[in-house]
Amino acid sequence: MRHRIAVVGSGPGGLAFARVLHCHDHPVTVLERDPAPDARPAGGTLDLHEGLGQLALDKAGLLAEFQALSRPEGQAMRILDADGTVLRDWRPGPDDQANPEIDRGQLRDLLLGPLDVRWGRGVTQVVPGTPDGVLVHFADGRQETFDLVVGADGAWSRIRPAVSSVTPHYTGVTTVETSLDEVDNRHPDLARLIGDGSLAVYGVNRALVAQRNSGGNVKVYAQFRASLDWHTDLDLADVEPVRSSLLALFDGWAAPVLDLLRHGTAFVHRPLYVLPVSHTWTHVSGVTLLGDAAHLMPPLGAGANLAMLDGAELAESIATGSGDLDEAVRAFEERMWARAGRWAKITMAGLERLVSPDPAEALALFDQVQPS
Ligand SMILES: Cc1cc2nc3c(=O)[nH]c(=O)nc-3n(C[C@H](O)[C@H](O)[C@H](O)COP(=O)(O)OP(=O)(O)OC[C@H]3O[C@@H](n4cnc5c(N)ncnc54)[C@H](O)[C@@H]3O)c2cc1C
Repeated sequence: MRHRIAVVGSGPGGLAFARVLHCHDHPVTVLERDPAPDARPAGGTLDLHEGLGQLALDKAGLLAEFQALSRPEGQAMRILDADGTVLRDWRPGPDDQANPEIDRGQLRDLLLGPLDVRWGRGVTQVVPGTPDGVLVHFADGRQETFDLVVGADGAWSRIRPAVSSVTPHYTGVTTVETSLDEVDNRHPDLARLIGDGSLAVYGVNRALVAQRNSGGNVKVYAQFRASLDWHTDLDLADVEPVRSSLLALFDGWAAPVLDLLRHGTAFVHRPLYVLPVSHTWTHVSGVTLLGDAAHLMPPLGAGANLAMLDGAELAESIATGSGDLDEAVRAFEERMWARAGRWAKITMAGLERLVSPDPAEALALFDQVQPS
């Protein structure tokens, strides 16, 4: 018997889940709030780890296509101090496929493939335990029932309240993101400074990170410790005042580094929220969570990877199990909680060291994870 399965959210987690089920010829309904795949900017580049995101792609039969699209050279990492002195300049070996980078839009299209997503279907609430299964309420007033609803709807999940009363809390670190377009043509000095991959500059309680995406686009992240209302006197949509305020925050840093902010186009404010490190819940028949909805953590290169592996493993557990949906979901949850708990601890400790009163902590962390 085929179960009626819906996944809410077409991020990396939801799409990996749907694509692996599709590989096993199991039907799945993908419900996405955005009206179209390109309705909003996809966001910055992602590095997919061999044992996490790449493993998920392998389970979906997409590893070779990923390798053709991804940028192994993007693993390069350069670290500077606030004076502009290069402290580390790490480059991957020619065959290094440990963490190649891929644009989010490329990854989305790769995972989408033949999937039939229902765009513009925002979910407002799910109610488990009705006589016909789990009742899904949509923003447009429609309703539909399924045997299993998977919440892959990110940090502010509308599915989470059906299993857990926990909500994300602010870490004390905020990020303002900006972009540089056609960096090789328009800003060749910055292009050289950034190199093939990422550039990170660490100061006291603040950091500037620049990451190359494909096509000469660079995403810049200014990170700093601040209260949530740090911008009350600032209109965040007004580019020049935001730029001036960031330049004041990073005052005294080397001029070439500050050019990352001077040449940035629009600015997007992203305060960093997390769920508690070991977020679990009492199993609820017919509803589960994966990815950020289950284990939102600081953006230190793990979230999309974990979301994808969650999705691929849940799909496999359902497709290759005994046919008992509840048993498959329970087994998945135990595995996901253990893995996510380990990564949440690592990324929380990492955030403390990367945006720290002592910039030497950031360098020590880099040496620990990238010792060559
Ligand atoms: C600045 C930054 C950099 C990052 N860099 C990396 C990195 O290098 N590597 C890495 O692994 N991770 C990285 N992350 C983390 C990563 O982006 C997330 O962990 C990942 O996107 C989570 O995937 P997801 O599928 O769980 O959720 P999301 O990607 O958040 O997708 C959720 C989807 O659900 C949809 N949705 C939301 N609500 C509803 C609703 N009510 N109804 C229907 N649909 C809904 C949304 O529109 C969206 O499409 C970064 C994060 C940030 C902020």
